[in-house]
Amino acid sequence: MAVKADYYEVLGVTRTASGDEIAKAYRKLAIKYHPDSNPDDENAMLKFKQAAEAYEVLNDPDKRNRYDQYGHAGVDGQQRQYSDAEDIFEAFGDIFGGGIFGDIFGSGRGRSRGGRRVSKGADIKVQVTLDLEEAARGVEKTVLFDRRETCETCQGSGAAAGSQPERCGRCGGHGQVVQQAGILRVQTTCPSCNGAGVKITDPCRSCRGQGYQSRRVELDVNIPAGVDDQMRVRLTGEGQPSPNGGPAGDCYCFISLRRHKLFERDGEHLILKMPISYTQAALGAEIEVPTLVDGAHLLNVPKGTQSGEVFKVRGQGMPDPHGRGKGDMYVQTYIEVPKKLEQRQEELLRELAELEHTNVSPHRKSFLESIRDYLFSSGDDENDAVKEK
Ligand SMILES: [Zn+2]
Ligand SMILES: [Zn+2]
Repeated sequence: MAVKADYYEVLGVTRTASGDEIAKAYRKLAIKYHPDSNPDDENAMLKFKQAAEAYEVLNDPDKRNRYDQYGHAGVDGQQRQYSDAEDIFEAFGDIFGGGIFGDIFGSGRGRSRGGRRVSKGADIKVQVTLDLEEAARGVEKTVLFDRRETCETCQGSGAAAGSQPERCGRCGGHGQVVQQAGILRVQTTCPSCNGAGVKITDPCRSCRGQGYQSRRVELDVNIPAGVDDQMRVRLTGEGQPSPNGGPAGDCYCFISLRRHKLFERDGEHLILKMPISYTQAALGAEIEVPTLVDGAHLLNVPKGTQSGEVFKVRGQGMPDPHGRGKGDMYVQTYIEVPKKLEQRQEELLRELAELEHTNVSPHRKSFLESIRDYLFSSGDDENDAVKEK
């Protein structure tokens, strides 16, 4: 068995280092020797594991004490055996302030293919506009959008016939380069080949070396009943293809609803403004109100209904997009005043006004009547109709 390195030396700290200094030193090493930044580097992996082991001991006051007194013998056999980097992160993830590794290595970490990192293709957004009725019932829509597809001429290589893409000199074909930023070593996509690992010297004429061409795609989308504005329906794997052999992106259909001429939507509920006449409001009535998808519904407007009163029609709202029932329809009545009256109607209303001792405007004379009055009277009947009470 090889002689074990001194834990303080491994971390590069003094024997009197504080817990903070130890954590800081470990973090630095863990980032430096992280396997993601050092693919296929056995030595880095070893250093990475050593640092984790040293940290595990020196971070624990009890174990550190025993290590100080008895050396490796004091703590041997008590450490976890780390099989790989993920293991180490599980054990010590908390010292990274919930983020450093998450930010640098966690997000966008693709599955590896032949040691090269792959990334998911870009997502595509399309807009789908629906009528309220379609949203209520659910509908199948056809969406059209442009998507990159593998160039047929070069089969996606981007290289002209007879030529071959060359391995990228900057990243050595890895597609990734390690960059130093302060104490952090950060792995990024190679700016020279954009992660492809290869460079094209003689580009394909059809796609200008891109390896793909834009194609119009037509897809049928099942829009579930109940969708609302701003919701989206995902078509998994229908987005842009990955630039380097990873999974394709997704296509998101963003829903927007057209305004309905009668119904207003409020989440799962529908609101209908319904005119009723003064007599219906006063005397009560059964009126027919439309529903969005179920035809007419008979609504009982009770005697003495006030303008603006709201009635609930259960279950005539919008369905829940997750299949949890349906909302209700709210009918808000308002009293509609006729713009024109039949002669008989006017007589009755005037009679009613008299009965109620209501002061109403005088009967408006027609233009001809006014002329006749002007010609044949003294013109002092101006205030005749105003009844003093
Ligand atoms: Zn091509
Ligand atoms: Zn490169």
